[in-house]
Amino acid sequence: MKILCIGRNYVEHAKELSNPVPEKPVFFSKTDASLLKNGKPFFLPDFSNEIHFETELVLKISKLGKHIDEKYADRYYDEIGIGIDFTARDLQRECKAKGLPWEIAKAFDNSAPLGKFLPKEKFADVNNIGFHLDINGKLTQEGNSRDLIFSFNRLISYLSIFFTLKTGDLIFTGTPAGVGPVKKNDRLQAYIENELLLDFMVK
Ligand code: MG
Repeated sequence: MKILCIGRNYVEHAKELSNPVPEKPVFFSKTDASLLKNGKPFFLPDFSNEIHFETELVLKISKLGKHIDEKYADRYYDEIGIGIDFTARDLQRECKAKGLPWEIAKAFDNSAPLGKFLPKEKFADVNNIGFHLDINGKLTQEGNSRDLIFSFNRLISYLSIFFTLKTGDLIFTGTPAGVGPVKKNDRLQAYIENELLLDFMVK
């Protein structure tokens, strides 16, 4: 399986990192070793002094597809979940300054804590899904899929030009504004609407 991640998919987040608002989706990938599941703790890696949380809605691909028409793209995922796109912001800054790929800042082991999924049918409108992250019980980041620059269907259609999508692949759909650092002993709890789907500690 593969994990495709979208960068800069919310206008306010692009602005907070002084990035231009993109005309096409910006994406990168993580590896299967990036996944951190079942509420296991995240251990701060020693190669970074600035690990940022990015809370994101995640789509689970349910069907093989290539060159998927945007109109029919919703047939290619059946579950929506929530995850954290942990980012070594200090390393990413270095990579960006040198024009290098971001993978070491984004795709390191355990950089993608992933919560439980909900069936897509549960949502009346996938383009209006609220989600948020609490850190140590305090509301820290919130977003809604209505503010996506590129909708779920657009992302699937665009990604499938380049990559064959396969059952079980994951798409991290981008973070809203409000990213920030985590520290040892933080407790992260991520919700879709009011349902707690991801709950883990930083160690
Ligand atoms: Mg992200």
